[in-house]
Amino acid sequence: MAIIVQKYGGSSVATVDRLKQVARKVVQRRRSGDDVVVVVSAMGDTTDRLLEMARQMSSAPHRRELDMLLTVGERTSMALLSMAIHDAGVDAISFTGSQCGILTTDSHSRAQIMEVRPFRVQDELARGRVVIVAGYQGTSYKREITTLGRGGSDLTAVALAGALGAEACEIYSDVDGVWTADPRIVPSSTKIESLSYEEMEALSRGGAKVLNRDAVAWARRVGVALYARSTFAPDDARGTAVRLNPPVRPNPVIGVTGRKDWIRVQHTQASVLSDLLCGSPVVRRRAKSNLVTAWLVKEDLPEASVLIEGCRAAGATVEEHLGSVTVVGTGLGENQHTYQLLVSQLSEWPNELTETSWTAWLPPDLVDQTVRIVHDAALARR
Ligand code: ADP
Ligand code: ASP
Ligand code: MG
Repeated sequence: MAIIVQKYGGSSVATVDRLKQVARKVVQRRRSGDDVVVVVSAMGDTTDRLLEMARQMSSAPHRRELDMLLTVGERTSMALLSMAIHDAGVDAISFTGSQCGILTTDSHSRAQIMEVRPFRVQDELARGRVVIVAGYQGTSYKREITTLGRGGSDLTAVALAGALGAEACEIYSDVDGVWTADPRIVPSSTKIESLSYEEMEALSRGGAKVLNRDAVAWARRVGVALYARSTFAPDDARGTAVRLNPPVRPNPVIGVTGRKDWIRVQHTQASVLSDLLCGSPVVRRRAKSNLVTAWLVKEDLPEASVLIEGCRAAGATVEEHLGSVTVVGTGLGENQHTYQLLVSQLSEWPNELTETSWTAWLPPDLVDQTVRIVHDAALARR
C-alpha cells in the first residue's frame, strides 16, 4: 500500500463546508486503498487575522509568543477535519507538528527543520488511521513551539513525505496547478504540465506562492514527487508535476512571476550587516567591491519596521519599496531570440541573469503590468 501525503491550503479549508468537502476527498482516497496523511493550513485568512491582533498588542510582537499564537490556526483546522472524517466512518487522528516529530532550530517565525521523526504517524498509519497534521509548525530541541515561515504548511507536507517514504506529495490549493504566470494577474497564462525542481524553485523564490520555496527546495533535496492540484477540480484532474527530468520544451522560458515586498539592505561592512540581520531570514546576498547587499521579504518579517529602523540607525541604506519581475527558464542567456527579447523588456531596470532566471528590480506598482507584458511577449502562443 502506498503512502500519500496531501496538503490542503487556507482557501481549501476556509469554511466548515469546505472542510467537509476536503473530508470527502480524503475518505475517498483512503477507501481506494492508500495510507493517507493530510496536512492542513489555518482556515482562510486566520493567520493574517491573528498577526493583526498581535500587531495591535505590540509594535514588535515577542517572537516566541507570536509562534504560540499563530500555530493555533492550524490546530483548529486539524481537529475539525479529523472530526469530519470520523463522521464519514473512517478512523482518523490529528497531531500537531511537535507530536509528529518535526524538529526545528530554535529560531522563531521562520525556523528550519533539522529532522523529522514521524514514529507516531507511522504507528497510526499501521493501525489503519488517516493522520491529520497541523502544518507550518514544529518544536525546537528546547521543546519550544516554532513556525516555519509563511506558506510553511507546504514544507510540513514535503518533509513528512520524505521522512515517510511517501509515493507522492500532493499540494491542493484554489488553482489547478502551476501556471505560466499567476492566473489572477495574467489572463493569457496557461497551465504547465510538468517542470523541474530548479525551475519551480526559481518561480517560487520570485513570488509564485502556489508552491512554497522551502518546500520545493526540500523536495528536490530528498527526491519527493511533488504535485500541485486544485481542491475544487474533479478527482482525475492532473494539475502540475514537479519532477527530475521534464520533457524538453521548444521555448526556453517557462514562466514569469513578480514580488512586491522586497527589502534591500546595504552596508559597506559585511560583519556589520550580518550582525544587523542576525536572526532575520535573508533570501539573497551579494557582495560587490566594498558594498554588501542583502534582500529580505516583508512577509517573513513580523517586526519589519523595527528591523528597518535598527538598520538605518546603524548606517545601513535600506530600500523598503522594491519589487521584482522574474523570468524563469533554461538557457535564457543562450537562446539568441529569447535573450534579445528579454534584454529589450528588462534592461531599463537593474537586472540580473542566472542559470534559471532573469530578474529585474523595479517599483512595486509596476510589477503586475510588467509581468503581463513580459509574459505575453515571451510566452503568448505564436
Ligand atoms: P494556499 O493558501 O492553498 O496555500 P496559496 O494562496 O499559497 O494557496 O497559493 C495559491 C495562489 O498562488 C493562487 O491563488 C494564485 O493566485 C497564486 N499564484 C501565484 N503564481 C502562480 C502561478 N504561477 N501558478 C498558479 N498560481 C499562482
Ligand atoms: N497559515 C500559514 C500562512 O498563512 C501557513 C500556511 O498556510 O502554509 O502562512
Ligand atoms: Mg500556500
